[in-house]
Amino acid sequence: MEPIPFYVAGQPAVSDDTLTVRHPYDGRPAGHTAYATPDQVEAAISAAAGITAVAAALPAFRRAAALDHVSRRLAERADEVARLITAENGKPVKWARAEVGRAVATFRWAAEEARRFSGDLQRLDTDPASAGRLAVVRRVPKGPVLGITPFNFPLNLVAHKVAPAIAVGAPIIVKPAPATPLSALLLGELLAETDLPAGMFSVLPLPNDRAADLVEDPRLPVVSFTGSGPVGAAIQAAVPGKHVTLELGGNAAALICEDYAADADFTYAAQRIATFANYQAGQSCIAVQRVYVHEWLYDGFLPRLVTAVEALRVGDPTDETVDVGPLISEEAARRVEAWVDEAVAAGAEIAAGGRRGGATYPPTVLTGAPADAKVCTEEVFGPVLVIAPVADDEAGFAAINDSMYGLQAGIFTHDLRTAFSAHRTLQVGGVVVGDVPSYRADQMPYGGTKASGVGREGLRSAMEDYTEPRVMVLTGI
Ligand code: NAD
Repeated sequence: MEPIPFYVAGQPAVSDDTLTVRHPYDGRPAGHTAYATPDQVEAAISAAAGITAVAAALPAFRRAAALDHVSRRLAERADEVARLITAENGKPVKWARAEVGRAVATFRWAAEEARRFSGDLQRLDTDPASAGRLAVVRRVPKGPVLGITPFNFPLNLVAHKVAPAIAVGAPIIVKPAPATPLSALLLGELLAETDLPAGMFSVLPLPNDRAADLVEDPRLPVVSFTGSGPVGAAIQAAVPGKHVTLELGGNAAALICEDYAADADFTYAAQRIATFANYQAGQSCIAVQRVYVHEWLYDGFLPRLVTAVEALRVGDPTDETVDVGPLISEEAARRVEAWVDEAVAAGAEIAAGGRRGGATYPPTVLTGAPADAKVCTEEVFGPVLVIAPVADDEAGFAAINDSMYGLQAGIFTHDLRTAFSAHRTLQVGGVVVGDVPSYRADQMPYGGTKASGVGREGLRSAMEDYTEPRVMVLTGI
């Protein structure tokens, strides 16, 4: 296997510090690359800093053309890219294909936004002292962006940072997760095919303990981090003066409301919850983890959910028909196993589940889990859901809010008043009505409250995040 290069200031690069990426399902090598050396990190940072003014002045048509190119090339190579995602991350290939489709759209929308994004005019003549004055508000990049990404969407979460940076004309350095750098390197290859100036992007694999070199460098004023809470908190504490966006974890909940009682409602909700508690083996920050059901509906809904969960096919993620593959590592699966065992020891019952095999953990439904069990309070990041009855919708909202996290919630109701009430009451970044909390469109504002993060992503939100307004006041016009 040829080593796959990483990218320093737009140029392919290698080093002797080899990184072998392994398929989580069976441990066979998925590819080899290498960690960037300190000199290569310095070259990437100084190139990004050196090109800031040039990047900001790049005409929109050139930024949009580069973004369109990446979108088109990803679409052309979709099958290969999906297989690469499956190889390094272990997600079933059908979910990997969905991820590629989202990244194709992310770059296409970014190209469209690059053509539109500018600023606005504000009238100032609202009192006599400002008569004849007008403000031109232009949004200018704050400077080079550092994007740090997790393993669970190794392509699209990188796209969420790279596409808006290029759209606004900000250089970007990406540090992908060490377990899954290959999709980000492929993105680097596609960016290198464009005529973006050298220094506009770098993709640098680095071990966790060397990421601080980038985080703390004053030449990178914007840090956009997606990953776990403790690491996010450490980054924020390390650089209090920087603009830091944190997209962190969650233990997302769904609520089946009193009016969601028809047979077709149960079938739909059970299928959606079973699928999105277990897609990517539960390794999504908005995977369904907690399910609350109106107490009149609970006894009818539980068997439907168990049937839907047990219908999921578990196995080799390269098989097109498999729904649930391995977790990222055996260590991760052992942690999930320990949390389930702990909940069972404290009184929970397993309504669906089975035994762990290596890195693969079976889709599991727990009833009667004590409210202080880790499977309720922490982020499981595995194919496990807990289900509990609630007295009414208000009690369901309270149960959803009884969490240190607040990313998204899913409310199954047909009643607009309940939808608006949920939207008013729930302490989350987004409420999905009529579906699971796991729904995300990449252009919508996305992020969390409480321990789930600071700031918002989503194309437009990230573009605003990477830029700041600069006002020009015109006098006498
Ligand atoms: P992680 O926090 O272990 O790693 C994320 C990234 O941070 C990796 O690139 C890692 O190398 C890097 N990193 C680790 N230590 C660092 C340090 N001290 N300084 C700088 N960088 C450091 O997370 P993970 O296990 O890869 O991903 C899973 C987590 O990501 C989950 O908690 C999940 O909820 C979260 N996530 C959040 C969102 C969101 O949008 N809110 C999306 C996907 C994943």
